[in-house]
Amino acid sequence: MKCNHCGAGNREQGNFCTKCGKKLRETCECWVKKEPYNCGNDTCPGYRLHAQLK
Ligand SMILES: [Zn+2]
Ligand SMILES: [Zn+2]
Repeated sequence: MKCNHCGAGNREQGNFCTKCGKKLRETCECWVKKEPYNCGNDTCPGYRLHAQLK
């Protein structure tokens, strides 16, 4: 998967560009969620997402 922002190649599974950190996908697939969920952040908050949703 190629980054739309910096053009760097990334592994298929990644939600974010390994080079510039921008999102590669519309849906983030946050790893704290069982289903694909878009956290809407430039960098996924991870566990902090739970706190944000409360
Ligand atoms: Zn990038
Ligand atoms: Zn996320």
